[in-house]
Amino acid sequence: MRREALSARRAWLAAVLLMAAVLLMAASSARADRSVVRPTYYVQPLGEVAEAHGLFACRVITEDFGLPCRVLRSRPLPSNALDRTRNQYDADAIVGMLFESLPADGAGLMALTNADLFEREQIRFVFGLASLVDHVGVVSLARYRGTWWGEATHAVTFYERYYKVLVHEVGHTVGLGHCENRHCAMRDDRTLADLDESPQRFCRRCQRAAAEGARLNPGSALWHYTRGHGHLNRAHFARAVYHFQRAAELEPGDAKVINDLGVAHLRRGDVGRALWYFREAARLDPTFANPRYNEGLVHIGAKDVVAAVGAFERALAADPSWSLAHKQLGRLYHEVLRDEPLALAHYQAYLDAHGEDASVADRVQMIKGGGGALPPR
Ligand SMILES: [Zn+2]
Ligand SMILES: [Zn+2]
Repeated sequence: MRREALSARRAWLAAVLLMAAVLLMAASSARADRSVVRPTYYVQPLGEVAEAHGLFACRVITEDFGLPCRVLRSRPLPSNALDRTRNQYDADAIVGMLFESLPADGAGLMALTNADLFEREQIRFVFGLASLVDHVGVVSLARYRGTWWGEATHAVTFYERYYKVLVHEVGHTVGLGHCENRHCAMRDDRTLADLDESPQRFCRRCQRAAAEGARLNPGSALWHYTRGHGHLNRAHFARAVYHFQRAAELEPGDAKVINDLGVAHLRRGDVGRALWYFREAARLDPTFANPRYNEGLVHIGAKDVVAAVGAFERALAADPSWSLAHKQLGRLYHEVLRDEPLALAHYQAYLDAHGEDASVADRVQMIKGGGGALPPR
């Protein structure tokens, strides 16, 4: 009887525990549902592009990258990307424009165009261009036909070339860089001859990285983090704050995200919030020098030399290899506190760590040569 009662109580306890576990799982999957969207890759025809070429791209993206894909309605080529003297479109400008157009559930966005493309500061043309962090790119269909080069080309050759460029550029949009392996589709091909002898497949390392990159979920913490950087680079500070904030909410406690949220606030002009986030990032990761260094820059801006020195010294205590803190300390001791031996020690430490600012070497010479007017900053 006693034993029965005990086991009944145990069964009841087990049921309660099970229910609690189910509730917990339901709560966490509800959280996940709110934050993670089912990813879709989008193909964006720019100007007139044959329907078959758009569908081909989507088939490749689905079969090779395992992503659902949709061809969007064609948009005109951006007229501000046309370089009339070259009669080519600026691929960087197109990629910049696409960044703004990535849908919220977009695992990536690949534009297709029949226009010829060039890359700034680059030789004659590019087959395509894509960003490794912004999940967007563009492929030009201009140069795969023999007619472009004044020769006869079979349709098979056209599709082979198109396929290789497509796989390569989509590879970039899921985070792959160029590959040293000449037997890999991520090798860097600059000429038609290069492209023709380029392999169609990824090497094993790139294949693994592509599969992993294609799993990045729109709406996940990492996705918001990379969007935040995209906006920060384009001086969209309010939107950078939004995305870093989302990343921080989805994955609390990541010092890197909190630091960058501080940077976005600082660039936006909100010094108070920036400082709060830098201190929070420093608290979360005691070995992370960046937020301490950033705090030092804020104090320099406020002309609070003592606080700045303290922050840069904390940056060095966290990570002695953070040579930029030596440069800042050198300047503060040199220009404001007029302590030349300490300034010299910090400048020297900066140079020893292969700091590249040539003016620091000039300052060292100046102190050693007995002082004089400070060089311009
Ligand atoms: Zn490339
Ligand atoms: Zn590779």
